[in-house]
Amino acid sequence: MSPPANTPVRDRLRIAIQKSGRLAEPARALLASCGLSWRESRDRLFCYGESLPIDLLLVRDDDIPGLIADGVCDLGIVGRNVLLEQDGGRSGNGQPSAFREWRALGFGGCRLALAVPDAWDWQGPQELTGKRIATSYPALLSRWLEAQGIAADVVLLSGSVEIAPRLGQAEAICDLVSSGATLSANQLKPVMTLLESEAVLAGPSVEFDPVRGELADLLLRRLDGALRIRHSKLLMFQAPRNLLPSLLPLLPDAETPTVMRLDDGDDLALQALCHGAVTWQRLEELKRAGARGLMVLPVEGMLA
Ligand code: ATP
Ligand code: ZN
Repeated sequence: MSPPANTPVRDRLRIAIQKSGRLAEPARALLASCGLSWRESRDRLFCYGESLPIDLLLVRDDDIPGLIADGVCDLGIVGRNVLLEQDGGRSGNGQPSAFREWRALGFGGCRLALAVPDAWDWQGPQELTGKRIATSYPALLSRWLEAQGIAADVVLLSGSVEIAPRLGQAEAICDLVSSGATLSANQLKPVMTLLESEAVLAGPSVEFDPVRGELADLLLRRLDGALRIRHSKLLMFQAPRNLLPSLLPLLPDAETPTVMRLDDGDDLALQALCHGAVTWQRLEELKRAGARGLMVLPVEGMLA
């Protein structure tokens, strides 16, 4: 498929991110870690890319899927919950969506959950039959109810969904939950998870023209590198060659270590990129197994 005929050809890439809110800062930080820098406009709605021709548009998160669909933006960082809620193909109008999830980004984690009053002796989803469920996610909820074969009323609220049962607007709610503190403060308990969500990089379902395609590829390569090393550390140590068989099993999350022979005798120097937590306990185990001069270094960048 080619882009819609009315899409003007642009030689810069435009990424929509949340202007303010939970995803705003982490989204900017992630893009900055890919080497992007910007000059901000006076109205703080547009950031002009300086290090690369990649600009930012600062918007409400709910607008991001539509902006991608209309070709106003090329990419966006948005919660999977928002993206799937606005996914036309799945929400039943039959049209394939103009956007899709390109990458999961590992922040903004939450779940879309069904919650009921604490006093409800919950036996299972069938109990929702004939009940009213308040939500800001009518498409996701309706799809789920349909899949479960349950006929319930979906009550659309744009905010403060958690107080709906107390106000008598609904018997249950379907809302985003992370710690669960808001639910318990409102005498509600989560009983079902409809969707596990996190921030995602969303992009169009169609291919870019060559210029923006090349920029998008460059960004994706850097992004994959940044995501891969996010929790990674470089572990360096020395050890006698004969202890290698007992040391390597202590590095299960490491990529194949680089092993260098030292000039003097039988000692080796090892470098291992570890993707899990390198804790004090782990370092102590390695030391007990014969490692010396253990050093843990942060990883600033990586290109596979
Ligand atoms: P906007 O003004 O941009 O519309 P908003 O109020 O819709 O902002 P936020 O509350 O900042 O948005 O949430 C943005 C996203 O953060 C959510 O869509 C969701 O993906 C994610 N998120 C993570 N944890 C939570 C949570 N506990 N409650 C709500 N959203 C969460
Ligand atoms: Zn929003």
